[in-house]
Amino acid sequence: MTGPRPPEPLLQMALRVEQDIFLVRQRGREVAAGVGLEHQDQVRLATALSEVARDLLRTVDGADVTFALDVDAPTGRPVLRVDLAPVHPLPDGRYEPQSGAVARLVDMLGVVPDQGDTVVRMSRRVPAHAQALTPERLAELRAELASSAPGTALDELAAQNAQLIAALDEVRSHRDELEVLNSELQETNRGVMALYNQLTEELEATNRGVVALYAELDEKSVQLRVASESKSRFLANVSHELRAPVTAIIGLGRLLADSASDPLTAEQARQVGLIRSSATDLLTLVNELLDLAKAESGRIEPDWAEVDLRGLFGQLRGTLRALATRSEVELVVEEPPAPATVRSDEVLLAQVLRNLLHNGLKFTERGEVRLRAERRDDRWLLSVTDTGVGIPPELHERIFEEFYQVPGVTRAGGTGLGLPYARRLVALLGGTLELSSEPGRGSTFTVALPVGGA
Ligand code: ADP
Repeated sequence: MTGPRPPEPLLQMALRVEQDIFLVRQRGREVAAGVGLEHQDQVRLATALSEVARDLLRTVDGADVTFALDVDAPTGRPVLRVDLAPVHPLPDGRYEPQSGAVARLVDMLGVVPDQGDTVVRMSRRVPAHAQALTPERLAELRAELASSAPGTALDELAAQNAQLIAALDEVRSHRDELEVLNSELQETNRGVMALYNQLTEELEATNRGVVALYAELDEKSVQLRVASESKSRFLANVSHELRAPVTAIIGLGRLLADSASDPLTAEQARQVGLIRSSATDLLTLVNELLDLAKAESGRIEPDWAEVDLRGLFGQLRGTLRALATRSEVELVVEEPPAPATVRSDEVLLAQVLRNLLHNGLKFTERGEVRLRAERRDDRWLLSVTDTGVGIPPELHERIFEEFYQVPGVTRAGGTGLGLPYARRLVALLGGTLELSSEPGRGSTFTVALPVGGA
């Protein structure tokens, strides 16, 4: 069997006596330096070599040492190879270094078969940035090694000492660097801790602020509820107290105008007429205020029952036809789809729809006002659509405020309390009242109610 041709040796030497160990070490370092190994690696290789040399001298009386340059198969990079062919065969063909740490000093250390024998081989890769090892360079190196006289054991000892001192220096400088790094790390740690403490404090301060804010908010909302309750109570009391005298004024006016009473002059009759109509307006206002105050203070309890929407719509059709007197406006009440029942309070619901239909008729010049019912999942949508003046989008919420009336829309009467009241009632019935409208085209007010009640 023919293997690849062994590389031409750079240097060969014999290891037979104690002093040769120093020599092998020294020459090993020279070869390592020659092929371009870094200083640290030169020392590592030399040290490993002297350890292995000592072992082999003791166990097999020495070896023939060959230095050669080989090529690392996978990478194609050059490696420095040292073969130690033992004088007597290795026991069991094996070799274990005395010190386990030796193997770590080189890339590879072990026994390999060599022409029927076994040799101890170690190798170390030449770094990529080393000088190119051309055949010329190798020849030169061979010549240099051949001519350089090997030093004495004392020289090698001195060199070894110098290397030891350099290694110690390096260790010290590493330690110094480590100390600097450590103190920097401690400094950083202190900084981080300080930042962390500061952040924690800021967070706690913020938390305290938020808690205080919430407490204030709670207090404000309690104040607001108390204020709103006292407003409702005040409205309820005042309107209740006003109702009796206003009703009396209307009655007295009727008496004065009665044909059975003393006849009035035309002027007196006109003035009494004014008093009566003003008092009637006032009574309407007072009644609406009272209703709203009652709804707001929660004093209205819905009377829950199954309400038949067809019956309710029929009733509204009848009562409101009287209001739709103008021929340009048609009142259309559609027939609700079956089964047309909803759990609600019939009186309150009628009040809401009447209010919306009334508004529709009031604010529509021509076209129609339409009431329709539509079932959407578990809700009823009851909508009142008109073809009237419409409401600008920015006022869609404002018209639900008490006393608000869209400016510039001239219509006799009205208090601005109808819609806020309607919305209150719908809320009591568990639903919502929404508006969609476009100025000039008309409005749609939609009451959405849960089929099963609130
Ligand atoms: P009132 O009708 O007594 O004035 P409401 O609360 O019912 O009070 O309505 C408030 C205002 O909303 C009305 O004055 C009117 O400006 C506007 N509005 C209500 N309904 C309609 C409608 N269908 N079309 C146009 N504007 C309306």
